[in-house]
Amino acid sequence: MKINTLPQEFLDARPALKRLEDAGFEAYFVGGAVRDMILNKPIHDVDIATSAFPEEVKSLFDKTVDTGIQHGTVMILDYGEGYEITTFRTESTYTDFRRPDKVTFVRSLEEDLKRRDFTINALAMTHTGEIVDLFDGLLDLNKGIIRAVGDAEVRFTEDALRMMRALRFSAQLGFDIDLETQTALQKLAPNLEKIAVERIRVEFEKLLTGPLAAKSLQTAVDDRVIKYIPGDIDLWDLSLIISDLNDNQAHSTRVAWVHLLTRSELSVKEMNYFMRVWKMSHENAKAVTLIAPVARRIKSISKFELYQVYSYQEDLLEVLHLLQTPQKIIQSVKRVFDTLPISKASELAINGGDLQIENLVQPGPKMGRVLKIVENAVVSGKIENTFESLITYVKELK
Ligand code: ATP
Ligand code: MG
Repeated sequence: MKINTLPQEFLDARPALKRLEDAGFEAYFVGGAVRDMILNKPIHDVDIATSAFPEEVKSLFDKTVDTGIQHGTVMILDYGEGYEITTFRTESTYTDFRRPDKVTFVRSLEEDLKRRDFTINALAMTHTGEIVDLFDGLLDLNKGIIRAVGDAEVRFTEDALRMMRALRFSAQLGFDIDLETQTALQKLAPNLEKIAVERIRVEFEKLLTGPLAAKSLQTAVDDRVIKYIPGDIDLWDLSLIISDLNDNQAHSTRVAWVHLLTRSELSVKEMNYFMRVWKMSHENAKAVTLIAPVARRIKSISKFELYQVYSYQEDLLEVLHLLQTPQKIIQSVKRVFDTLPISKASELAINGGDLQIENLVQPGPKMGRVLKIVENAVVSGKIENTFESLITYVKELK
Protein backbone atom coordinates (compact mmCIF):
# COMPACT_ATOMS: atom_id res chain seq x y z
CA MET A 1 0.00 0.00 0.00
CA LYS A 2 1.17 3.48 -0.76
CA ILE A 3 -0.10 6.67 0.86
CA ASN A 4 -0.13 9.40 -1.76
CA THR A 5 -0.80 12.45 0.34
CA LEU A 6 1.06 12.33 3.62
CA PRO A 7 -0.37 14.35 6.50
CA GLN A 8 1.61 17.46 7.38
CA GLU A 9 3.06 15.89 10.54
CA PHE A 10 4.93 13.37 8.38
CA LEU A 11 5.94 15.92 5.73
CA ASP A 12 7.52 18.05 8.45
CA ALA A 13 9.60 15.10 9.63
CA ARG A 14 10.66 13.95 6.17
CA PRO A 15 14.03 15.77 6.08
CA ALA A 16 15.12 13.74 9.10
CA LEU A 17 14.43 10.44 7.31
CA LYS A 18 16.10 11.69 4.16
CA ARG A 19 19.22 12.66 6.02
CA LEU A 20 19.49 9.17 7.49
CA GLU A 21 18.95 7.58 4.09
CA ASP A 22 21.45 9.85 2.37
CA ALA A 23 24.00 8.61 4.89
CA GLY A 24 23.28 5.03 3.83
CA PHE A 25 20.90 3.99 6.64
CA GLU A 26 17.30 2.86 6.59
CA ALA A 27 14.68 5.02 8.26
CA TYR A 28 10.91 4.65 8.69
CA PHE A 29 7.95 6.17 10.41
CA VAL A 30 6.69 3.59 12.90
CA GLY A 31 4.13 2.83 15.57
CA GLY A 32 1.04 4.76 16.60
CA ALA A 33 1.39 7.60 14.09
CA VAL A 34 1.25 5.24 11.09
CA ARG A 35 -1.70 3.38 12.62
CA ASP A 36 -3.62 6.57 13.38
CA MET A 37 -2.96 8.05 9.94
CA ILE A 38 -4.49 5.01 8.25
CA LEU A 39 -7.46 5.22 10.61
CA ASN A 40 -7.85 8.91 9.78
CA LYS A 41 -7.38 9.80 13.43
CA PRO A 42 -5.42 12.74 14.82
CA ILE A 43 -1.70 12.01 14.86
CA HIS A 44 0.26 12.46 18.09
CA ASP A 45 3.98 11.81 18.11
CA VAL A 46 5.66 10.92 14.87
CA ASP A 47 8.21 8.25 15.83
CA ILE A 48 11.10 7.32 13.60
CA ALA A 49 13.03 4.03 13.58
CA THR A 50 16.37 3.60 11.89
CA SER A 51 19.15 1.12 11.21
CA ALA A 52 21.66 3.74 12.37
CA PHE A 53 23.06 3.17 15.85
CA PRO A 54 22.58 5.97 18.39
CA GLU A 55 26.11 7.36 17.97
CA GLU A 56 25.62 7.36 14.22
CA VAL A 57 22.33 9.23 14.59
CA LYS A 58 24.00 11.78 16.82
CA SER A 59 26.78 12.39 14.34
CA LEU A 60 24.29 13.12 11.55
CA PHE A 61 22.27 15.82 13.28
CA ASP A 62 23.30 19.12 14.85
CA LYS A 63 21.04 19.31 17.86
CA THR A 64 20.41 16.06 19.71
CA VAL A 65 19.38 15.09 23.21
CA ASP A 66 19.95 11.65 24.74
CA THR A 67 16.38 11.11 25.88
CA GLY A 68 16.68 7.32 26.15
CA ILE A 69 20.01 6.45 24.69
CA GLN A 70 20.39 3.15 26.56
CA HIS A 71 17.22 2.01 24.74
CA GLY A 72 18.43 3.50 21.49
CA THR A 73 16.38 6.69 21.47
CA VAL A 74 17.84 10.05 20.51
CA MET A 75 15.76 13.20 20.24
CA ILE A 76 16.72 15.49 17.37
CA LEU A 77 15.87 19.16 17.43
CA ASP A 78 17.16 20.22 14.01
CA TYR A 79 13.70 20.80 12.53
CA GLY A 80 11.94 22.89 15.15
CA GLU A 81 9.66 20.13 16.29
CA GLY A 82 11.57 17.46 18.27
CA TYR A 83 11.60 13.94 16.84
CA GLU A 84 12.54 10.75 18.63
CA ILE A 85 14.71 8.52 16.50
CA THR A 86 15.09 4.99 17.82
CA THR A 87 17.55 2.42 16.56
CA PHE A 88 16.04 -0.88 15.39
CA ARG A 89 16.28 -3.18 18.35
CA THR A 90 15.26 -6.45 19.87
CA GLU A 91 14.35 -6.91 23.51
CA SER A 92 14.97 -9.71 25.92
CA THR A 93 12.40 -10.54 28.61
CA TYR A 94 11.36 -8.18 31.37
CA THR A 95 12.52 -9.88 34.58
CA ASP A 96 11.77 -6.89 36.77
CA PHE A 97 8.49 -6.30 34.90
CA ARG A 98 9.55 -2.68 34.32
CA ARG A 99 11.90 -2.62 31.40
CA PRO A 100 13.58 -5.20 29.23
CA ASP A 101 16.71 -6.70 30.74
CA LYS A 102 18.67 -5.94 27.67
CA VAL A 103 18.01 -4.26 24.35
CA THR A 104 20.16 -5.20 21.41
CA PHE A 105 20.55 -2.84 18.50
CA VAL A 106 20.09 -4.47 15.14
CA ARG A 107 20.21 -3.40 11.50
CA SER A 108 17.00 -5.13 10.44
CA LEU A 109 13.59 -3.50 10.32
CA GLU A 110 11.92 -6.89 10.50
CA GLU A 111 13.55 -7.70 13.84
CA ASP A 112 12.37 -4.36 15.19
CA LEU A 113 8.78 -4.78 14.03
CA LYS A 114 8.66 -8.31 15.45
CA ARG A 115 9.19 -7.11 19.02
CA ARG A 116 6.23 -4.71 18.83
CA ASP A 117 3.06 -5.60 20.67
CA PHE A 118 0.21 -5.73 18.15
CA THR A 119 0.02 -6.07 14.40
CA ILE A 120 -1.66 -2.67 14.08
CA ASN A 121 1.32 -1.15 15.91
CA ALA A 122 3.90 -2.98 13.83
CA LEU A 123 3.47 -1.02 10.61
CA ALA A 124 6.26 1.07 9.15
CA MET A 125 6.17 3.72 6.42
CA THR A 126 8.93 5.12 4.22
CA HIS A 127 9.17 8.86 3.68
CA THR A 128 7.59 8.35 0.27
CA GLY A 129 4.48 6.85 1.88
CA GLU A 130 5.14 3.16 1.14
CA ILE A 131 3.70 1.00 3.93
CA VAL A 132 5.74 -1.94 5.20
CA ASP A 133 3.32 -4.51 6.59
CA LEU A 134 5.03 -7.71 7.66
CA PHE A 135 2.35 -9.04 10.03
CA ASP A 136 -0.94 -8.27 8.28
CA GLY A 137 -1.44 -5.17 10.38
CA LEU A 138 -3.39 -3.52 7.54
CA LEU A 139 -5.84 -6.40 7.43
CA ASP A 140 -6.36 -6.18 11.19
CA LEU A 141 -6.77 -2.39 10.98
CA ASN A 142 -9.39 -2.98 8.37
CA LYS A 143 -11.22 -5.63 10.36
CA GLY A 144 -10.83 -3.74 13.63
CA ILE A 145 -8.83 -6.38 15.44
CA ILE A 146 -6.13 -6.26 18.06
CA ARG A 147 -3.83 -9.21 17.53
CA ALA A 148 -0.48 -9.89 19.14
CA VAL A 149 2.53 -10.07 16.86
CA GLY A 150 3.54 -13.72 16.96
CA ASP A 151 2.47 -16.06 19.75
CA ALA A 152 0.26 -14.11 22.15
CA GLU A 153 1.18 -16.25 25.15
CA VAL A 154 4.87 -15.72 24.55
CA ARG A 155 4.40 -11.99 24.05
CA PHE A 156 2.30 -11.55 27.20
CA THR A 157 4.78 -13.62 29.17
CA GLU A 158 7.61 -11.36 28.01
CA ASP A 159 5.73 -8.27 29.10
CA ALA A 160 2.39 -8.56 30.91
CA LEU A 161 1.68 -4.87 30.38
CA ARG A 162 0.76 -5.73 26.81
CA MET A 163 -2.50 -7.18 28.17
CA MET A 164 -3.46 -3.78 29.58
CA ARG A 165 -2.43 -2.25 26.29
CA ALA A 166 -4.73 -4.59 24.40
CA LEU A 167 -7.63 -3.37 26.54
CA ARG A 168 -6.73 0.28 26.18
CA PHE A 169 -6.39 0.12 22.38
CA SER A 170 -9.73 -1.64 22.34
CA ALA A 171 -11.21 1.27 24.36
CA GLN A 172 -9.59 3.89 22.17
CA LEU A 173 -10.25 2.35 18.78
CA GLY A 174 -13.34 0.27 19.46
CA PHE A 175 -11.50 -2.81 18.16
CA ASP A 176 -12.16 -6.39 19.22
CA ILE A 177 -9.37 -8.51 20.63
CA ASP A 178 -8.51 -11.46 18.42
CA LEU A 179 -9.54 -14.81 19.88
CA GLU A 180 -6.10 -16.29 20.39
CA THR A 181 -4.85 -13.05 21.90
CA GLN A 182 -7.85 -12.94 24.22
CA THR A 183 -7.34 -16.56 25.31
CA ALA A 184 -3.75 -15.73 26.23
CA LEU A 185 -4.98 -12.68 28.09
CA GLN A 186 -7.41 -14.74 30.17
CA LYS A 187 -4.69 -17.22 31.00
CA LEU A 188 -1.94 -14.76 31.83
CA ALA A 189 -3.89 -11.94 33.49
CA PRO A 190 -2.44 -12.84 36.95
CA ASN A 191 0.99 -11.74 35.66
CA LEU A 192 -0.30 -8.16 35.74
CA GLU A 193 0.13 -8.22 39.51
CA LYS A 194 3.86 -8.01 39.02
CA ILE A 195 3.80 -4.98 36.76
CA ALA A 196 4.80 -1.61 38.19
CA VAL A 197 1.68 0.35 39.02
CA GLU A 198 2.92 3.41 37.13
CA ARG A 199 2.98 1.45 33.88
CA ILE A 200 -0.49 0.01 34.46
CA ARG A 201 -1.85 3.42 35.37
CA VAL A 202 -0.77 4.99 32.08
CA GLU A 203 -2.65 2.34 30.12
CA PHE A 204 -5.66 2.29 32.45
CA GLU A 205 -6.02 6.06 32.17
CA LYS A 206 -5.99 5.80 28.39
CA LEU A 207 -8.61 3.07 28.67
CA LEU A 208 -10.83 5.20 30.90
CA THR A 209 -10.67 8.18 28.53
CA GLY A 210 -11.32 6.10 25.43
CA PRO A 211 -14.68 6.40 23.67
CA LEU A 212 -15.34 2.70 24.31
CA ALA A 213 -14.17 2.60 27.92
CA ALA A 214 -17.32 0.73 28.97
CA LYS A 215 -16.79 -2.09 26.53
CA SER A 216 -13.16 -2.47 27.55
CA LEU A 217 -13.96 -2.44 31.24
CA GLN A 218 -16.51 -5.15 30.61
CA THR A 219 -13.80 -7.20 28.85
CA ALA A 220 -11.50 -6.56 31.81
CA VAL A 221 -14.20 -7.95 34.09
CA ASP A 222 -15.05 -10.93 31.86
CA ASP A 223 -11.41 -11.88 31.37
CA ARG A 224 -10.69 -11.32 35.07
CA VAL A 225 -8.01 -8.73 34.36
CA ILE A 226 -9.77 -6.44 36.81
CA LYS A 227 -8.73 -8.76 39.67
CA TYR A 228 -5.07 -8.22 39.02
CA ILE A 229 -4.86 -4.46 38.69
CA PRO A 230 -4.48 -2.15 41.71
CA GLY A 231 -7.26 -0.98 43.98
CA ASP A 232 -9.55 -4.00 44.35
CA ILE A 233 -11.87 -2.60 41.69
CA ASP A 234 -13.23 -6.13 41.23
CA LEU A 235 -15.03 -5.73 44.54
CA TRP A 236 -17.03 -2.76 43.29
CA ASP A 237 -20.45 -3.02 41.79
CA LEU A 238 -19.11 -2.39 38.31
CA SER A 239 -22.20 -3.26 36.33
CA LEU A 240 -23.80 0.11 37.00
CA ILE A 241 -20.62 2.02 36.24
CA ILE A 242 -20.15 0.13 33.01
CA SER A 243 -23.69 0.55 31.78
CA ASP A 244 -23.56 4.27 32.53
CA LEU A 245 -20.18 4.73 30.91
CA ASN A 246 -21.73 3.79 27.60
CA ASP A 247 -21.82 6.62 25.09
CA ASN A 248 -20.02 8.87 27.53
CA GLN A 249 -16.41 9.85 27.27
CA ALA A 250 -14.24 11.63 29.82
CA HIS A 251 -11.95 14.14 28.17
CA SER A 252 -9.15 14.10 30.69
CA THR A 253 -7.63 11.54 33.02
CA ARG A 254 -8.57 13.77 35.92
CA VAL A 255 -12.23 13.78 34.99
CA ALA A 256 -12.11 10.04 34.34
CA TRP A 257 -10.81 9.34 37.83
CA VAL A 258 -13.22 11.74 39.51
CA HIS A 259 -16.08 10.15 37.63
CA LEU A 260 -15.06 6.61 38.48
CA LEU A 261 -14.54 7.37 42.16
CA THR A 262 -17.72 9.39 42.45
CA ARG A 263 -19.59 6.35 41.20
CA SER A 264 -17.69 4.01 43.49
CA GLU A 265 -19.03 3.56 46.97
CA LEU A 266 -15.70 4.39 48.57
CA SER A 267 -15.61 6.83 51.47
CA VAL A 268 -13.20 9.75 51.18
CA LYS A 269 -10.75 7.86 53.37
CA GLU A 270 -11.01 4.79 51.18
CA MET A 271 -10.63 6.94 48.08
CA ASN A 272 -7.42 8.36 49.45
CA TYR A 273 -6.12 4.88 50.06
CA PHE A 274 -7.16 3.81 46.55
CA MET A 275 -5.39 6.78 45.01
CA ARG A 276 -2.22 6.06 46.98
CA VAL A 277 -2.24 2.48 45.77
CA TRP A 278 -2.54 3.73 42.19
CA LYS A 279 0.22 6.31 42.85
CA MET A 280 -1.98 8.94 41.30
CA SER A 281 -0.55 12.41 40.77
CA HIS A 282 -1.03 14.79 43.67
CA GLU A 283 -3.12 17.18 41.55
CA ASN A 284 -5.49 14.47 40.37
CA ALA A 285 -5.86 13.05 43.88
CA LYS A 286 -6.65 16.49 45.25
CA ALA A 287 -9.26 17.05 42.56
CA VAL A 288 -10.91 13.74 43.39
CA THR A 289 -11.17 14.42 47.12
CA LEU A 290 -12.62 17.87 46.47
CA ILE A 291 -14.96 17.14 43.58
CA ALA A 292 -16.31 13.64 44.26
CA PRO A 293 -18.10 14.46 47.56
CA VAL A 294 -19.69 17.51 45.93
CA ALA A 295 -20.74 15.60 42.83
CA ARG A 296 -22.31 12.87 44.95
CA ARG A 297 -24.47 15.32 46.86
CA ILE A 298 -25.10 17.81 44.09
CA LYS A 299 -28.86 17.89 44.66
CA SER A 300 -28.49 19.28 48.15
CA ILE A 301 -25.23 21.16 47.82
CA SER A 302 -24.82 24.62 49.38
CA LYS A 303 -23.43 27.70 47.69
CA PHE A 304 -20.46 27.66 50.01
CA GLU A 305 -19.58 24.07 49.08
CA LEU A 306 -19.72 24.95 45.39
CA TYR A 307 -17.60 28.02 46.06
CA GLN A 308 -14.94 25.75 47.60
CA VAL A 309 -14.55 23.92 44.28
CA TYR A 310 -14.69 27.12 42.22
CA SER A 311 -11.36 26.46 40.50
CA TYR A 312 -12.57 22.96 39.56
CA GLN A 313 -15.88 24.04 38.08
CA GLU A 314 -15.17 22.81 34.56
CA ASP A 315 -14.18 19.37 35.80
CA LEU A 316 -17.18 19.25 38.12
CA LEU A 317 -19.57 20.18 35.31
CA GLU A 318 -18.10 17.53 33.04
CA VAL A 319 -18.39 14.92 35.77
CA LEU A 320 -22.03 15.91 36.39
CA HIS A 321 -22.66 15.44 32.71
CA LEU A 322 -21.05 11.98 32.82
CA LEU A 323 -23.17 11.15 35.85
CA GLN A 324 -26.22 12.02 33.75
CA THR A 325 -27.30 14.66 36.21
CA PRO A 326 -30.55 16.34 35.10
CA GLN A 327 -29.93 19.47 32.99
CA LYS A 328 -31.96 21.57 35.42
CA ILE A 329 -29.51 20.85 38.20
CA ILE A 330 -26.45 21.38 36.00
CA GLN A 331 -27.86 24.75 34.92
CA SER A 332 -28.43 25.85 38.49
CA VAL A 333 -24.90 24.81 39.46
CA LYS A 334 -23.58 26.89 36.55
CA ARG A 335 -25.70 29.82 37.68
CA VAL A 336 -24.22 29.64 41.17
CA PHE A 337 -20.68 29.70 39.77
CA ASP A 338 -21.52 32.63 37.48
CA THR A 339 -23.06 34.71 40.23
CA LEU A 340 -20.78 34.02 43.20
CA PRO A 341 -19.69 37.38 44.66
CA ILE A 342 -16.12 36.14 45.14
CA SER A 343 -14.15 33.20 43.81
CA LYS A 344 -11.54 32.98 46.55
CA ALA A 345 -10.81 34.30 50.04
CA SER A 346 -8.27 36.85 48.79
CA GLU A 347 -11.13 38.65 47.03
CA LEU A 348 -12.77 39.55 50.34
CA ALA A 349 -12.85 43.32 50.86
CA ILE A 350 -11.08 42.87 54.21
CA ASN A 351 -8.20 40.77 55.41
CA GLY A 352 -6.58 39.88 58.73
CA GLY A 353 -4.51 43.04 58.70
CA ASP A 354 -7.64 45.21 58.46
CA LEU A 355 -9.26 43.45 61.41
CA GLN A 356 -6.11 44.05 63.45
CA ILE A 357 -5.85 47.73 62.54
CA GLU A 358 -9.51 48.22 63.33
CA ASN A 359 -8.74 46.57 66.65
CA LEU A 360 -11.41 43.93 66.13
CA VAL A 361 -9.43 40.69 66.22
CA GLN A 362 -5.82 40.01 67.13
CA PRO A 363 -3.68 37.55 65.17
CA GLY A 364 -4.20 33.96 66.26
CA PRO A 365 -6.57 31.05 65.67
CA LYS A 366 -9.56 33.29 66.25
CA MET A 367 -8.60 35.42 63.27
CA GLY A 368 -8.95 32.47 60.93
CA ARG A 369 -12.34 31.57 62.38
CA VAL A 370 -13.69 35.10 62.03
CA LEU A 371 -12.48 35.39 58.44
CA LYS A 372 -14.14 32.04 57.59
CA ILE A 373 -17.44 33.31 59.00
CA VAL A 374 -17.11 36.50 56.95
CA GLU A 375 -16.25 34.51 53.84
CA ASN A 376 -19.28 32.30 54.37
CA ALA A 377 -21.57 35.28 54.85
CA VAL A 378 -20.33 36.94 51.67
CA VAL A 379 -20.54 33.80 49.57
CA SER A 380 -24.05 32.95 50.74
CA GLY A 381 -25.12 36.53 49.95
CA LYS A 382 -25.90 37.53 53.52
CA ILE A 383 -23.66 40.60 53.34
CA GLU A 384 -22.14 42.72 50.64
CA ASN A 385 -18.44 42.42 49.93
CA THR A 386 -17.46 46.00 50.82
CA PHE A 387 -15.04 47.18 53.46
CA GLU A 388 -17.66 49.03 55.49
CA SER A 389 -20.27 46.30 55.55
CA LEU A 390 -17.72 43.63 56.46
CA ILE A 391 -16.27 45.72 59.31
CA THR A 392 -19.78 46.39 60.62
CA TYR A 393 -20.57 42.71 60.35
CA VAL A 394 -17.49 41.73 62.38
CA LYS A 395 -18.33 44.34 65.01
CA GLU A 396 -21.81 42.84 65.31
CA LEU A 397 -20.32 39.37 65.58
CA LYS A 398 -18.48 40.44 68.70
P1 ATP B 1 -0.36 6.36 21.48
O1 ATP B 1 -1.02 7.03 20.34
O2 ATP B 1 -1.26 6.16 22.63
O3 ATP B 1 0.97 6.93 21.87
P2 ATP B 1 1.27 4.23 20.45
O4 ATP B 1 0.95 3.06 19.60
O5 ATP B 1 2.17 5.27 19.88
O6 ATP B 1 -0.08 4.86 20.93
P3 ATP B 1 3.18 4.02 22.57
O7 ATP B 1 3.00 3.54 23.95
O8 ATP B 1 3.56 5.43 22.35
O9 ATP B 1 1.86 3.65 21.78
O10 ATP B 1 4.28 3.07 21.91
C1 ATP B 1 4.83 3.31 20.61
C2 ATP B 1 5.03 1.99 19.87
O11 ATP B 1 5.99 1.20 20.57
C3 ATP B 1 3.79 1.12 19.78
O12 ATP B 1 3.01 1.46 18.65
C4 ATP B 1 4.38 -0.28 19.69
O13 ATP B 1 4.80 -0.55 18.39
C5 ATP B 1 5.60 -0.17 20.57
N1 ATP B 1 5.37 -0.57 21.98
C6 ATP B 1 5.07 0.25 23.02
N2 ATP B 1 4.96 -0.42 24.18
C7 ATP B 1 5.20 -1.71 23.87
C8 ATP B 1 5.26 -2.91 24.64
N3 ATP B 1 5.02 -2.92 25.95
N4 ATP B 1 5.57 -4.07 23.98
C9 ATP B 1 5.81 -4.07 22.65
N5 ATP B 1 5.77 -2.98 21.88
C10 ATP B 1 5.48 -1.81 22.47
MG1 MG C 1 2.95 7.00 21.01
